[in-house]
Amino acid sequence: ALTKQQLVDWLMRCGEVFRRERDFLTELDTAIGDADHGLNMNRGFDQVAAKLPSVAEQDIGAILKSSGMTLLSSVGGASGPLFGTFFIRAAQVTAGKQSLDLAELQQMVQAGAEGVAARGKAQPGDKTMCDVWQPVADSLKQSLAQASDVRAGLRQAAERARQAAESTIAMQARKGRASYLGERSIGHQDPGATSVMLMIQALSAAAG
Ligand code: ADP
Ligand code: MG
Ligand code: MG
Repeated sequence: ALTKQQLVDWLMRCGEVFRRERDFLTELDTAIGDADHGLNMNRGFDQVAAKLPSVAEQDIGAILKSSGMTLLSSVGGASGPLFGTFFIRAAQVTAGKQSLDLAELQQMVQAGAEGVAARGKAQPGDKTMCDVWQPVADSLKQSLAQASDVRAGLRQAAERARQAAESTIAMQARKGRASYLGERSIGHQDPGATSVMLMIQALSAAAG
């Protein structure tokens, strides 16, 4: 199972990843947006990491909820409320838990993915972060059916996330700022989808 400590380690790793990948993500957002996505994610997860020591003794649901509230209040733009929603929905299904088995982790990602899709009203193929969240949830469900453990399931999910993020290159954006570009949004990888990929890679690394 994924322990609470590994979950906290994941959130710390997200802080590091978004510091390291800030310029890359902002470059992606320069091509089809307003050149702030890397800054947004870096600012948000710096705040999440800073808050962690004060909530790390609580249960997984409480830690995820606190992180979601932090993202809501510190990120802004389109992505802040969407990543905030992911964590707040994920918190609702993990309340009181000290560890997550693969089934619980799958439920967490599924609930978060559905929350983001409802909030952003994005359909599959709209070239948004949803085009990675849902494939990750689907991948975890497949791993569950194959009786994989959390580590193997997350390794598989990280590979699926990489492919899913890459698949946004060929899509035309139908939500968010990139949609203003119409067909000119084709040929560029979606910044938010790339951030989800980075988060899932970090989760896999935290699981060991
Ligand atoms: P903003 O566009 O407000 O500057 P960001 O640059 O931080 O916000 O985030 C842009 C990302 O947000 C996009 O790459 C996309 O993945 C995601 N996004 C935008 N609108 C939506 C939406 N309606 N549903 C899901 N994701 C969205
Ligand atoms: Mg932007
Ligand atoms: Mg912006």
